[in-house]
Amino acid sequence: FVLEASRLKARSELVELAQTHEQAAKTDELTGLSNRRDMHNRLTVEFSRYQRSGHHFSIALIDLDLFKGINDQHGHDAGDEVLKAFSALMQSVIRQTDVAARWGGEEFLILLPDTSLLQALTLAERLRSEVDHTPFRFQGTELPVTISAGVCSIAKAGSVNELLKQADVCLYNAKEDGRNRIAPRVRSRSASRTPANES
Ligand code: GH3
Ligand code: MG
Ligand code: MG
Repeated sequence: FVLEASRLKARSELVELAQTHEQAAKTDELTGLSNRRDMHNRLTVEFSRYQRSGHHFSIALIDLDLFKGINDQHGHDAGDEVLKAFSALMQSVIRQTDVAARWGGEEFLILLPDTSLLQALTLAERLRSEVDHTPFRFQGTELPVTISAGVCSIAKAGSVNELLKQADVCLYNAKEDGRNRIAPRVRSRSASRTPANES
Protein backbone atom coordinates (compact mmCIF):
# COMPACT_ATOMS: atom_id res chain seq x y z
CA PHE A 1 0.00 0.00 0.00
CA VAL A 2 2.83 2.38 0.92
CA LEU A 3 4.61 1.56 -2.32
CA GLU A 4 1.45 2.17 -4.34
CA ALA A 5 0.90 5.52 -2.57
CA SER A 6 4.43 6.73 -3.32
CA ARG A 7 4.11 5.57 -6.90
CA LEU A 8 0.90 7.59 -7.28
CA LYS A 9 2.53 10.63 -5.67
CA ALA A 10 5.50 10.44 -8.04
CA ARG A 11 3.10 10.13 -10.95
CA SER A 12 1.04 13.17 -9.97
CA GLU A 13 4.24 15.18 -9.50
CA LEU A 14 5.28 14.22 -13.01
CA VAL A 15 1.90 15.24 -14.42
CA GLU A 16 2.15 18.57 -12.62
CA LEU A 17 5.66 19.14 -13.96
CA ALA A 18 4.52 18.34 -17.50
CA GLN A 19 1.62 20.79 -17.14
CA THR A 20 3.95 23.53 -15.90
CA HIS A 21 6.23 22.97 -18.88
CA GLU A 22 3.31 22.92 -21.29
CA GLN A 23 2.07 26.24 -19.90
CA ALA A 24 5.55 27.78 -20.10
CA ALA A 25 5.90 26.68 -23.73
CA LYS A 26 2.75 28.65 -24.61
CA THR A 27 3.49 31.80 -22.64
CA ASP A 28 5.53 34.92 -23.30
CA GLU A 29 7.79 35.38 -20.31
CA LEU A 30 7.79 39.19 -20.11
CA THR A 31 4.08 39.87 -20.51
CA GLY A 32 2.44 36.59 -19.48
CA LEU A 33 0.42 36.65 -22.71
CA SER A 34 0.21 33.78 -25.18
CA ASN A 35 3.34 33.56 -27.29
CA ARG A 36 3.51 33.47 -31.07
CA ARG A 37 3.51 29.68 -31.28
CA ASP A 38 0.42 29.37 -29.09
CA MET A 39 -1.38 32.03 -31.12
CA HIS A 40 -0.51 30.26 -34.36
CA ASN A 41 -2.05 27.07 -33.01
CA ARG A 42 -5.17 28.92 -31.88
CA LEU A 43 -5.53 30.58 -35.29
CA THR A 44 -5.31 27.17 -36.98
CA VAL A 45 -7.98 25.75 -34.66
CA GLU A 46 -10.22 28.80 -35.17
CA PHE A 47 -9.83 28.54 -38.95
CA SER A 48 -10.90 24.86 -38.88
CA ARG A 49 -13.93 25.84 -36.82
CA TYR A 50 -14.73 28.54 -39.37
CA GLN A 51 -14.50 26.03 -42.24
CA ARG A 52 -16.61 23.48 -40.39
CA SER A 53 -19.32 25.71 -38.99
CA GLY A 54 -18.97 29.11 -40.70
CA HIS A 55 -18.27 30.92 -37.44
CA HIS A 56 -16.46 34.12 -38.39
CA PHE A 57 -13.51 35.52 -36.51
CA SER A 58 -11.31 38.59 -36.79
CA ILE A 59 -7.80 39.57 -35.79
CA ALA A 60 -6.09 42.80 -34.79
CA LEU A 61 -2.36 43.12 -35.37
CA ILE A 62 -1.05 45.83 -33.07
CA ASP A 63 2.32 47.59 -33.08
CA LEU A 64 3.56 50.13 -30.54
CA ASP A 65 4.42 53.42 -32.24
CA LEU A 66 8.00 54.70 -32.31
CA PHE A 67 8.92 52.26 -29.58
CA LYS A 68 12.60 52.37 -30.41
CA GLY A 69 12.57 56.00 -29.26
CA ILE A 70 11.32 54.97 -25.80
CA ASN A 71 14.18 52.49 -25.45
CA ASP A 72 16.71 55.00 -26.76
CA GLN A 73 15.56 57.88 -24.58
CA HIS A 74 14.51 56.12 -21.39
CA GLY A 75 16.31 52.78 -21.47
CA HIS A 76 15.42 49.16 -22.20
CA ASP A 77 13.85 48.68 -18.74
CA ALA A 78 11.42 51.50 -19.46
CA GLY A 79 10.54 49.77 -22.72
CA ASP A 80 9.95 46.48 -20.90
CA GLU A 81 7.65 48.20 -18.40
CA VAL A 82 5.65 49.73 -21.24
CA LEU A 83 5.25 46.30 -22.87
CA LYS A 84 3.96 44.88 -19.57
CA ALA A 85 1.63 47.80 -18.83
CA PHE A 86 0.24 47.77 -22.36
CA SER A 87 -0.35 44.00 -22.13
CA ALA A 88 -2.30 44.43 -18.89
CA LEU A 89 -4.38 47.24 -20.39
CA MET A 90 -5.12 45.15 -23.49
CA GLN A 91 -6.22 42.21 -21.31
CA SER A 92 -8.62 44.50 -19.47
CA VAL A 93 -10.19 45.78 -22.70
CA ILE A 94 -10.76 42.48 -24.56
CA ARG A 95 -13.50 39.95 -23.80
CA GLN A 96 -12.86 36.72 -21.94
CA THR A 97 -13.27 34.73 -25.15
CA ASP A 98 -10.71 36.89 -27.02
CA VAL A 99 -7.05 35.90 -26.89
CA ALA A 100 -4.15 38.35 -26.82
CA ALA A 101 -0.64 37.26 -27.73
CA ARG A 102 2.77 38.82 -27.96
CA TRP A 103 3.45 38.27 -31.64
CA GLY A 104 7.06 39.41 -31.34
CA GLY A 105 9.06 42.39 -30.05
CA GLU A 106 6.56 45.24 -29.69
CA GLU A 107 3.90 43.58 -31.86
CA PHE A 108 0.77 41.98 -30.47
CA LEU A 109 -2.08 39.99 -31.98
CA ILE A 110 -5.64 39.66 -30.73
CA LEU A 111 -7.84 36.79 -31.89
CA LEU A 112 -11.53 37.68 -31.71
CA PRO A 113 -13.79 34.65 -32.17
CA ASP A 114 -17.36 35.19 -33.44
CA THR A 115 -16.53 38.80 -34.27
CA SER A 116 -17.27 40.75 -37.45
CA LEU A 117 -14.83 43.22 -39.01
CA LEU A 118 -16.90 46.13 -37.76
CA GLN A 119 -17.00 44.80 -34.20
CA ALA A 120 -13.24 44.13 -34.29
CA LEU A 121 -12.57 47.65 -35.57
CA THR A 122 -14.66 49.06 -32.74
CA LEU A 123 -12.71 47.07 -30.16
CA ALA A 124 -9.37 48.09 -31.68
CA GLU A 125 -10.41 51.73 -31.72
CA ARG A 126 -11.43 51.51 -28.07
CA LEU A 127 -8.04 50.03 -27.18
CA ARG A 128 -6.22 52.69 -29.23
CA SER A 129 -8.13 55.43 -27.43
CA GLU A 130 -7.51 53.87 -23.99
CA VAL A 131 -3.78 53.69 -24.68
CA ASP A 132 -3.77 57.25 -25.98
CA HIS A 133 -5.47 58.52 -22.80
CA THR A 134 -3.61 56.37 -20.27
CA PRO A 135 -0.46 57.88 -18.78
CA PHE A 136 2.45 55.41 -18.95
CA ARG A 137 5.13 56.30 -16.39
CA PHE A 138 8.60 54.99 -15.70
CA GLN A 139 10.48 56.31 -12.66
CA GLY A 140 8.27 59.37 -12.56
CA THR A 141 8.65 60.24 -16.23
CA GLU A 142 5.66 60.06 -18.54
CA LEU A 143 6.33 58.11 -21.72
CA PRO A 144 4.63 58.77 -25.07
CA VAL A 145 2.80 55.52 -25.83
CA THR A 146 0.42 55.06 -28.74
CA ILE A 147 -0.49 52.09 -30.94
CA SER A 148 -1.35 51.42 -34.55
CA ALA A 149 -3.27 48.35 -35.67
CA GLY A 150 -4.40 46.47 -38.73
CA VAL A 151 -7.73 44.68 -38.40
CA CYS A 152 -9.04 41.90 -40.67
CA SER A 153 -11.87 39.41 -40.79
CA ILE A 154 -11.61 35.84 -42.03
CA ALA A 155 -14.63 36.55 -44.26
CA LYS A 156 -12.24 38.24 -46.68
CA ALA A 157 -9.31 35.83 -46.46
CA GLY A 158 -8.88 32.28 -47.71
CA SER A 159 -6.37 31.09 -45.14
CA VAL A 160 -4.70 32.05 -41.87
CA ASN A 161 -1.61 33.17 -43.76
CA GLU A 162 -3.64 35.38 -46.05
CA LEU A 163 -5.42 36.86 -43.04
CA LEU A 164 -2.09 37.65 -41.38
CA LYS A 165 -0.76 39.20 -44.59
CA GLN A 166 -3.83 41.43 -44.91
CA ALA A 167 -3.51 42.54 -41.29
CA ASP A 168 0.14 43.34 -41.93
CA VAL A 169 -0.75 45.50 -44.94
CA CYS A 170 -3.42 47.33 -42.91
CA LEU A 171 -0.93 47.91 -40.11
CA TYR A 172 1.54 49.31 -42.61
CA ASN A 173 -1.15 51.67 -43.92
CA ALA A 174 -1.96 52.85 -40.38
CA LYS A 175 1.72 53.68 -39.88
CA GLU A 176 1.93 55.44 -43.23
CA ASP A 177 -1.16 57.49 -42.42
CA GLY A 178 0.57 58.93 -39.36
CA ARG A 179 0.37 56.27 -36.57
CA ASN A 180 -1.94 56.23 -33.51
CA ARG A 181 -4.70 54.88 -35.74
CA ILE A 182 -6.52 51.74 -36.86
CA ALA A 183 -6.79 50.51 -40.45
CA PRO A 184 -9.03 50.13 -42.30
CA ARG A 185 -10.76 53.33 -41.22
CA VAL A 186 -14.39 52.93 -40.29
CA ARG A 187 -16.45 54.76 -42.89
CA SER A 188 -19.53 56.88 -42.29
CA ARG A 189 -22.42 55.17 -40.54
CA SER A 190 -24.56 54.86 -43.66
CA ALA A 191 -21.64 53.30 -45.55
CA SER A 192 -20.82 50.90 -42.73
CA ARG A 193 -24.39 49.56 -42.77
CA THR A 194 -24.05 48.16 -46.29
CA PRO A 195 -23.81 44.34 -46.40
CA ALA A 196 -20.27 44.47 -47.82
CA ASN A 197 -19.07 46.01 -44.58
CA GLU A 198 -21.04 43.73 -42.30
CA SER A 199 -18.78 40.70 -42.65
P1 GH3 B 1 7.14 52.14 -35.71
O1 GH3 B 1 6.18 53.15 -35.20
O2 GH3 B 1 7.37 52.28 -37.17
O3 GH3 B 1 6.72 50.74 -35.34
O4 GH3 B 1 8.54 52.44 -35.01
P2 GH3 B 1 9.27 51.58 -33.91
O5 GH3 B 1 10.37 52.39 -33.33
O6 GH3 B 1 8.27 51.05 -32.93
O7 GH3 B 1 9.77 50.33 -34.74
P3 GH3 B 1 11.20 49.66 -34.84
O8 GH3 B 1 10.93 48.35 -35.52
O9 GH3 B 1 12.20 50.58 -35.46
O10 GH3 B 1 11.64 49.41 -33.37
C1 GH3 B 1 11.08 48.46 -32.55
C2 GH3 B 1 11.87 48.43 -31.27
O11 GH3 B 1 11.31 47.54 -30.30
C3 GH3 B 1 13.30 47.98 -31.47
C4 GH3 B 1 13.52 46.94 -30.41
O12 GH3 B 1 14.72 47.14 -29.72
C5 GH3 B 1 12.35 47.13 -29.47
N1 GH3 B 1 12.00 45.92 -28.75
C6 GH3 B 1 11.64 44.73 -29.27
N2 GH3 B 1 11.42 43.84 -28.26
C7 GH3 B 1 11.67 44.48 -27.10
C8 GH3 B 1 11.64 44.08 -25.72
O13 GH3 B 1 11.33 42.96 -25.35
N3 GH3 B 1 11.96 45.03 -24.79
C9 GH3 B 1 12.31 46.30 -25.14
N4 GH3 B 1 12.58 47.16 -24.16
N5 GH3 B 1 12.37 46.68 -26.43
C10 GH3 B 1 12.04 45.79 -27.40
MG1 MG C 1 7.27 46.53 -34.98
MG1 MG D 1 6.68 49.81 -33.49
